[in-house]
Amino acid sequence: MRKKFVAGNWKMFTTSATARQLAAAVVRGLGDEQGVAVAICPPFPYLSIVAETLQGSRVVLGAQNCYHEQEGAFTGEVSPAMLVDVGCRYVILGHSERRHKLGETDAFINRKVHAALAAGLDVILCLGETLEERQAHRTEAVLEAQLMGSLAGLEAAALRRMVLAYEPVWAIGTGQNATPQQAQQAHAFIRGHIRQHFGAEAASALLIQYGGSVKPDNAASLFHQADVDGGLIGGASLNADHFLAIVRAALA
Ligand code: PEP
Repeated sequence: MRKKFVAGNWKMFTTSATARQLAAAVVRGLGDEQGVAVAICPPFPYLSIVAETLQGSRVVLGAQNCYHEQEGAFTGEVSPAMLVDVGCRYVILGHSERRHKLGETDAFINRKVHAALAAGLDVILCLGETLEERQAHRTEAVLEAQLMGSLAGLEAAALRRMVLAYEPVWAIGTGQNATPQQAQQAHAFIRGHIRQHFGAEAASALLIQYGGSVKPDNAASLFHQADVDGGLIGGASLNADHFLAIVRAALA
């Protein structure tokens, strides 16, 4: 039985003061609940502040991106080793905002996946199709290409340290979530791909989050799907009550 995992992606929001408050409210609200795993992913400048707030709690820290080198002359980049150093357990890679607004390719993401795992981070790898791709019935072909590209060169053992997040681009920040059936179909496809390429054990242990306009009122129906193992939450993770309601939906 896979334990559900809900992660909050704060994107480029919060200040040092609101980051601390939000993290503290999530810690308080989660208490000692052990039935669901929870992570929050603040912007880089607030990672250390939030790490302090999370100490001794069940909420773990993640970052939203990293570079694929551990150190060097790469002005403006942040290495996986630095994220480990400030207390991160996870890093989100391949988010659609980075794929589509910043031009990240599967090959580039793949280098970052390897570097993050080598540095000791666990990876939340995002995948998902655009509206045009869905309308052209290319969803599975797009997911297949993203999986082949981003996971290239990994062994089945590495999958134990990865979470996949199915995030249809048309559902992110739009208020239009995938239906539970659409999510289940994509998740089952992803798990099938992992089974085929990495084996049955890796596939059945793998957590696959759904992301895209998850809110307190639609979380339970999405999380009840057989292959949906929690969520990656953007907008709603900026409100502690909403985020905690989504976390509770994963327990139901
Ligand atoms: C995200 O940024 O990963 C996301 C799913 O955003 P939202 O929940 O706001 O759609």
